[in-house]
Amino acid sequence: MNVEAAELKKFADAAHTWWDPEGPFATLHQLNPLRVEWIESLAPVAAQRVLDIGCGGGLLSEALAERGATVTGIDLGERALKVASLHALQGGLSIEYRLAAAEQLALERPGGFDLVCCMEMLEHVPRPDSVVHAAATLVRPGGWVMFSTLNRNLKAFALAIVGAEYLAGVVPKGTHDWSKFIRPSELAGWARAAGLQPVAFRGLEVNPLDRRMRLSSNVDVNYFLACRRPS
Ligand code: SAH
Repeated sequence: MNVEAAELKKFADAAHTWWDPEGPFATLHQLNPLRVEWIESLAPVAAQRVLDIGCGGGLLSEALAERGATVTGIDLGERALKVASLHALQGGLSIEYRLAAAEQLALERPGGFDLVCCMEMLEHVPRPDSVVHAAATLVRPGGWVMFSTLNRNLKAFALAIVGAEYLAGVVPKGTHDWSKFIRPSELAGWARAAGLQPVAFRGLEVNPLDRRMRLSSNVDVNYFLACRRPS
């Protein structure tokens, strides 16, 4: 299977902290409203069937469900899924969480989703291109696929690993492995090879002084790619 045990363990060890806005996943909490707004600017989610690949504790899944989407979240981390299910239950949200790989679900529900999201997950997987391919299979013709990951260059190494993990300490040490980062051109190439049309890139910029985030056209570090499956 397309998974690395050491990667899953990192996330399993921190699973109880998924919903702590100041815990190890603080950066994702901060990023969440920005990415939701960006997704909705391209593909409004109300009444849409949405798949969240590598959903973790369900930060994105819940935000999309709150906006009226019918959400399925998948991950290979059992503890994350337990936390996600419980949190949704407590909040009265109905979300389908499943322990499944994207490739597995692609065999079961090809074309079954209007929108597929796969955020901050590809850089933890041995064969990210295979996940991109599965996402392309899972989305219906005319639907959207949104990816996000980290760029592979010196600046991303300096900011995402040295800065965020070792200096500021806002991301736990060892979370990211620079060699697994993905250049925008590589991600767009995998998307095209899978039959998707890359439509828009956005990048995350963090103000070094107050650590406030905003999305911009700068894809040097953390970035997003929106793709469409042709109708
Ligand atoms: N997408 C979420 C969580 C990102 S953290 C968000 O942005 O809020 C990365 C997640 O990917 C973790 O929950 C981890 O368990 C999951 N993951 C790592 N390797 C995976 C794989 N091969 N298949 C599915 N999920 C995986």
